Amino acid sequence: VAFRQDPLLRSWRRPSTYSVLGEVAHAIAEIARARRDWPQDPDPLRARIEACWDEEITRGFTRLAAAWNPAQPPPPEEWPGYQLTRARTLRRPLKLLTERRAVERKQTPSRDVEVEVELHDSTTGLFGRADRIEQDRDSTRIIDLKTGLSQGDPTEAQHRQLLLYAVLVQRNTGTWPHEIAIENASGQQTALPLDPSAAIAALDEVTRAVDLYNTHLNAGAEHTTANPTAESCRWCPFRVLCQPYWTLLTSSWRHQDLLGTIVESGDTPRGVYAHVQIESPTDLSDRRINIKALPTTPPSSAHRIAAVDLATHVDATDTTARWNTLVRLW
Ligand code: SF4
Repeated sequence: VAFRQDPLLRSWRRPSTYSVLGEVAHAIAEIARARRDWPQDPDPLRARIEACWDEEITRGFTRLAAAWNPAQPPPPEEWPGYQLTRARTLRRPLKLLTERRAVERKQTPSRDVEVEVELHDSTTGLFGRADRIEQDRDSTRIIDLKTGLSQGDPTEAQHRQLLLYAVLVQRNTGTWPHEIAIENASGQQTALPLDPSAAIAALDEVTRAVDLYNTHLNAGAEHTTANPTAESCRWCPFRVLCQPYWTLLTSSWRHQDLLGTIVESGDTPRGVYAHVQIESPTDLSDRRINIKALPTTPPSSAHRIAAVDLATHVDATDTTARWNTLVRLW
């Protein structure tokens, strides 16, 4: 949160192929829910959804390429999880539209559905955007769309997020929702009844965490809240900057990251390289490694390097930077 709020540092956070796939899957689920004029027959309907996928993925690729310029992301078909995400994403609106037509044929009253609902509570400062809120005469459901390929039961963090949406709905309408649910990429839902006391406890927990964070910031001790672990730091783009991370990183975490001193660097016809004396992972600090295919030549003033998401783990004698390896030189 602190890194993301700093205008000088937030640009280290860039979209990934995973985040773009998630955004595209999300967009298509909501477009399909909102559109009422799509074809009824399965074949033209599928063709319409596929065209929608192609448009959204082209937009996503453009965003990704702009954020990583001058690095060139691979074409979408080569992204990890592309085909599976596409298959599941196309299946979800087909299922939704088929179910909707069955409901319309039976003339049963359908639920009111709001998507991307902005919610705010001025008392606590809590805010958020719920993916979907469904309402019928006497009950409300909050649904969060998850597009990750490995989504199973809601994680603790996902459950907490839904509890906080429930608080926001209660603060905005005066009524507690009766159910919270996660919907996976195939359109399957895992629903949980809402326990208002659990929602209040979640609010208390985040309020205390925000107070603690602000206390540390006001004291000028910005690193004291960091709690690096192999799991929590794995996808954090700010590890390239985060001193507590480098202090604790060991090779047992199996992250493909390193921090060290540049011993030698150069630009050859086969690309830019740097020989590095490793400082972190800390258990490899007696080793040197050659990093190939660096995106830029280290300036003569740069003596140190941090690189995250290299092509391999750094317990070898050489490794390679990928198109999305973040490299910091100073
Ligand atoms: S690297 Fe880990 S400790 Fe540092 S900011 Fe990221 S998540 Fe927090």
